Amino acid sequence: MADVAVAGGGIVGVVTALFLARRGHRVVVLDADPDPVEGEPDGLFECWSRAGVPQSLHCHVFRGRVGTVLRQEAPDVLESMLARGIGVAGYDFGEGFEDALALLSRRPVFEAALRRAAHQEPGVELRAAVRVAGLDAVPGSVPRVVGVRTRDGERLHADLVIDCCGRRSTTPRWLAEIGTRLPVDHYQPCDLHYFARHYRLLPDAGFPGTCFPDGNLTPYGIFLAMAQDNRTFCLAGGLSKTDPYRSAFRDDAKFDQVMTALPGMAPWVQAGEPISDVQLMGGIANRRRSLLDADTPVVDGYLLIGDASMYTNATFGQGVALGCWQAQALARRSHLIGKDNRHLLHELEAWTSRTLGPRYARQVHVDEAMIHTLRAGIDGAPVMNPSDQASALAALRGHGDPLAAAAFHRIDNLLTEPGDELADQQLNERTTAFLASIPAGPGPLPRPTFEVSGPPFSGHMICG
Ligand SMILES: Cc1cc2nc3c(=O)[nH]c(=O)nc-3n(C[C@H](O)[C@H](O)[C@H](O)COP(=O)(O)OP(=O)(O)OC[C@H]3O[C@@H](n4cnc5c(N)ncnc54)[C@H](O)[C@@H]3O)c2cc1C
Repeated sequence: MADVAVAGGGIVGVVTALFLARRGHRVVVLDADPDPVEGEPDGLFECWSRAGVPQSLHCHVFRGRVGTVLRQEAPDVLESMLARGIGVAGYDFGEGFEDALALLSRRPVFEAALRRAAHQEPGVELRAAVRVAGLDAVPGSVPRVVGVRTRDGERLHADLVIDCCGRRSTTPRWLAEIGTRLPVDHYQPCDLHYFARHYRLLPDAGFPGTCFPDGNLTPYGIFLAMAQDNRTFCLAGGLSKTDPYRSAFRDDAKFDQVMTALPGMAPWVQAGEPISDVQLMGGIANRRRSLLDADTPVVDGYLLIGDASMYTNATFGQGVALGCWQAQALARRSHLIGKDNRHLLHELEAWTSRTLGPRYARQVHVDEAMIHTLRAGIDGAPVMNPSDQASALAALRGHGDPLAAAAFHRIDNLLTEPGDELADQQLNERTTAFLASIPAGPGPLPRPTFEVSGPPFSGHMICG
């Protein structure tokens, strides 16, 4: 049994703590934000202050891999989520995947269920409103981390410290303070400006769909709808941050007008009434960090998990799944904690590169094309077409191909890998033929309508 300190009690910090405690370790989680006030999901959604998680009120989908990991590691927590109105998506993942389930929830509702579980877990001590300020370490060519310091000056000993501070992790500074450095820090800004608004279904209405992604891709923007818990849903999307019309989405009425003008989004607007203002967020990027310099650890007794290790532009909606999967990979190697922390770091980095690395690389590749396409779309260029076979599966799904749809959903939910699916000869041939034949279309809601004559901005507009 080892003592573990987790800096950051967001989704991944809390699942990491739960999974480690259930393998017999003592875990202290320190999170800068306060605990949620106990109560009904709507109260939580409205009142839980998450300064440390700026995306907290943005739309989240919880992929099949999240359901699989929770079912394997903490089935009781999964049950408690379902009992509180968190929904299950209606995917048909196909034969062999009957048990897989993707969850539908507003993020604060999902996260509060995890926090509740952590507070009840005997091996976990979760301390809210405590900010970690840095690391305590024994100096050396490879410094050995032996604990954390809080902003209030408290020192906490640990056999292993895990940074789960999310995309704002200050690991580079913490490492510099103990005489080492972060050797790998790949960063790709994504040029996107996100917007999101939450709604409740009208009394007689049902969700137009529960299988993400649902919505429209236009040449200049991405527009998505997601069913959530307790008869709520979220409409969201992104424009290039160079788009002069992006600030118009600050206006709730204009936001709804744009959504109504999009054929894939209109049924959603008609099915509900708003329960929030429009949320905006910029600074979107992909980032991958590693504590291995080539094959050599730069620090001992310290790990990065979740967004602190790897975060992706949210268009695929996979960050929580990547982090929960990585937390499970750590838990499965947790017999090494305090006994051989360097070997543990090697093992975890190797797993991350092998399992999550290809997904990160694909996101970077897709985003590179997307950044250019959305910018060109502002000037009237056509909609972005799929450029690889995995994206072709998504497009074939849109054309009503059930085989492609199931394969796409399995990949998208992190249940299988593109290479495994495309080893199927029939699917491979279909996607290859599709890529060769696909015409470049204008997409719905042509730019001139969006800009001038259509419902969105027929009056004056606010430009960024
Ligand atoms: C706009 C947007 C939409 C997204 N949509 C999706 C989606 O649909 N599906 C999906 O799977 N993922 C989505 N993501 C990604 C997802 O939000 C992250 O992958 C996920 O939150 C990572 O969890 P985490 O625990 O690593 O980090 P976080 O959830 O960011 O948690 C970090 C925690 O650390 C705390 N903290 C920070 N610094 C300190 C400190 N010094 N001391 C103590 N505590 C500290 C913070 O308060 C916070 O509680 C989205 C991201 C964005 C930006």
